[in-house]
This record gives sequence, structure tokens and C-alpha cells, in this order.
Amino acid sequence: MVEGRTVIVVGGGVMGLAAGCALAGRGARVTVIERWRVAHERGSSHGLTRAIRHEYGPLGIYTDMVARSLPLWADLARETGRRLYTETGILTLGQEDDGHTLPGLETMRAAGLPVERLTGAECARRFDQFQPEEFGAITWNPVGGMMHASECLMALAERLRTRGGALREETRVARVEGSGDGVVVTLAGGERLEADRAIMTAGPWVAEVLPEPRIPVRVTHQQVMYLGGLPTERFAAGAFPTFLAGMEYYGFPLQGAGWLKVASHRFGVTHDPNTAQVVDPEEVERVRAWLRRVIPEVADAPLVGTDLCMYDLVADEDFVLDVDPENTGVVIGSGFSGHGFKFGILIGELLAALALDEKPAVPLERFRLARFGETNPERAIGHVAGGHA
Ligand SMILES: Cc1cc2nc3c(=O)[nH]c(=O)nc-3n(C[C@H](O)[C@H](O)[C@H](O)COP(=O)(O)OP(=O)(O)OC[C@H]3O[C@@H](n4cnc5c(N)ncnc54)[C@H](O)[C@@H]3O)c2cc1C
Repeated sequence: MVEGRTVIVVGGGVMGLAAGCALAGRGARVTVIERWRVAHERGSSHGLTRAIRHEYGPLGIYTDMVARSLPLWADLARETGRRLYTETGILTLGQEDDGHTLPGLETMRAAGLPVERLTGAECARRFDQFQPEEFGAITWNPVGGMMHASECLMALAERLRTRGGALREETRVARVEGSGDGVVVTLAGGERLEADRAIMTAGPWVAEVLPEPRIPVRVTHQQVMYLGGLPTERFAAGAFPTFLAGMEYYGFPLQGAGWLKVASHRFGVTHDPNTAQVVDPEEVERVRAWLRRVIPEVADAPLVGTDLCMYDLVADEDFVLDVDPENTGVVIGSGFSGHGFKFGILIGELLAALALDEKPAVPLERFRLARFGETNPERAIGHVAGGHA
């Protein structure tokens, strides 16, 4: 009986809020519990932008999940009157043998996307901000761009409330335990809440809220930089694309107060999510050195801001979307490995389906916890996200 099922969602980042909305939309009684406030700056979901791209190399399942996510985000934007997405197109600068760029072109073509392969000369003509000489495979896909991350969170929180769901902010969950057919969620203040199901979407804190660490998540320090003082006519959306380059770097057109965001997706050092992060000046210099080669016009622009963030990284970079085998009342959404945001609204639906014992809209075999006991060469590091966020 789905109607009236009680579900507690632990964590109000993009995944938890989206799961809450999906549950409330299906008639469940849902409470999302968030340790701080929605869109706070200590987790993984806050900030100006996240890339949304169909470029997933040969992995059509992710390309398909992006295609499913875009209309769901568009519905949310219509419903809340918020701007959640800007279509900028995606320029990928890669190599013929990187296992990602050309297989991605084929996957996207098969999915009917209007993607093209560009020569270096064509790339330089269309986007003369880039020096493409060192790249042997370049693609352009006009469909894709940037999600306005914190706006998405506010929109989800609004939808949750509109649908009758509850959001308890500034409330920390201390423990979640199985109890008969359901779960007991104990808050840090000692209050005990009973529910039919719990969904664990605690991001980098996942190991703290599962009774014992069950997922091999490594939390990493990540940093993005914002460069200012750049001319709108050359770097605003329309003139400048969202780009993915060299299986590592990515960036966006000007956003917010006229800031150009650029970062490396390279996995940072292991980080304790309860300690403050500090800006790493060496990383800033490393990104600038790369910009000097590929987008020289921005390389020495003033650094006007940085965002510090964490990845909840699993070795194969595939997500964990599963029922906890040791506690069937608990659904886990974790391991988003630095590329989960774009799918958030869809993942909410998938987690809700698991909590309500419904058939998910996407086959979830790939995302099962049991795989961590398997040996599978396809799941090598760097395979899934193709080095990009
Ligand atoms: C620098 C950076 C760039 C990225 N770029 C992209 C991109 O371009 N495209 C893309 O698709 N993805 C990107 N990602 C990944 C994406 O942002 C994440 O996968 C996604 O935001 C994860 O959401 P989440 O809800 O799982 O985690 P979070 O946003 O961290 O949410 C978890 C929440 O749980 C709460 N919580 C934790 N413990 C408790 C507790 N005990 N009680 C109550 N609440 C608790 C936390 O306060 C937090 O709000 C990027 C990530 C980073 C860090």
C-alpha cells in the first residue's frame, strides 16, 4: 500500500529533496531532514552551476538518463517560475583514442541528438576563444548546458512543500535502524521517529548515518574557480559554450555577477566532511597553466571567487541506488562521484520507486551495491564520467 506510506529522507541536497518531491507526488507522507539549511555551502549541491551533458562516451544509459532528466527539470522550472537551466551547448575537446569523445559522438547520434564532429579549424572559427591544436577529436552538441544549482534546490524545496511534504532544517539525524518492517530514525537531540522507509541521501556524510560503513565511498576535496573582468560579448552564453576538455577540465560561460567558472574534475585529496576546506593555491595555478595553452584570453583574469565542494567518490564512478541488503527498510542514494547533479530530479524518482516497492523507470542493475564484490574491467576508474563533472 503506497498511499500513506511514511518515508524519512536523510539529507536535503539535490538527491534528498528530489526524492522527497517524488514521494510526496505519489501520496507518501514524507519528511526530508537536513542538518543545515537548503543550499548551504558545506555539501555538494550548492552554487551557481552544474553541467548537464549527454556526453557519456559509450555509456548510453547515462545519455538516456540525461534525456529523461531535462524535461523533468523543465517541468519544475515551469511550476515554480524559476530559471533552472540555460542551454549553452557542449563543446568537447578530446582525443581520438580517449575512449570517450568519439564513442560519445556515436552514442549521441544513435540517440538522435544533433551532435557534430568539428575539425580544429571549424572549432577555431566557431569558438575563437579556444586554441584547439592539441585536440584530435572535437564535438559540438547544441543540446546541454548549465543547471543553476542553488535555484534548483530552492525549486525542489518549494515543490516539496506544495505537495504537502515536510522539510526539517537544522536537524541532524544521528542513527537509522531497522525495526520490524520499518525503520527508526534517531535525531541528534534524542527524538525518535518511526517510518516505513528511510532514504539515505547524506552526500559526503553517508558513512556517518548508516549504522556501519557499507559503501566504499571516498570523500574528496574539490575546488572550482571564478574569473572576472571578461568581456560579455566573448564569454557570455551564446558566444562561449560549456566545455569539457582533455578528459579533465570543464567550464561555463559567464554567470552570476559576470564570473567565468572553470575547474579540474581530477579527484582531490581525501577530506573529512566535518572539517573546513581551504583553497589550494597550487590548484589555481595548475588550472591557469592549462588555460594559458587552451583559452589564453582568460588565463590571467582576476580570481574573483572559489567554491569548495566534495565528491562522494566510488571507485567505478557509477552511482549507488539500491536497497540496503542488511536493512530492507533503508534505500541508499550515494556514490555520485562528482557527476550526479544533472540527474538529481530523475534520481529522486528512482529512489522514491525503491522506497515504494515500485518498478523504477530506469534499470538499476548497474547501480547495485553488490557490484563492489565483483571484478569487472569495464568499471575502471575514469570510465564512466569520462573525466568530467
Ligand atoms: C565541485 C563540484 C562540481 C560538480 N559539478 C557537477 C556538474 O557539473 N554536473 C553534475 O551533474 N554534477 C556535478 N557535481 C556533482 C553533484 O553536485 C553531486 O553529485 C550532487 O550535488 C550530490 O548531491 P547529494 O544530495 O547526494 O549530496 P549533498 O548536496 O552533499 O547533500 C547531502 C545533504 O545531507 C545533509 N546531511 C548529511 N548528514 C546529515 C545528517 N546526519 N542529518 C541530516 N542531514 C544530513 C547535508 O547537510 C547535505 O545537505 C559536482 C560536484 C562538485 C563538488
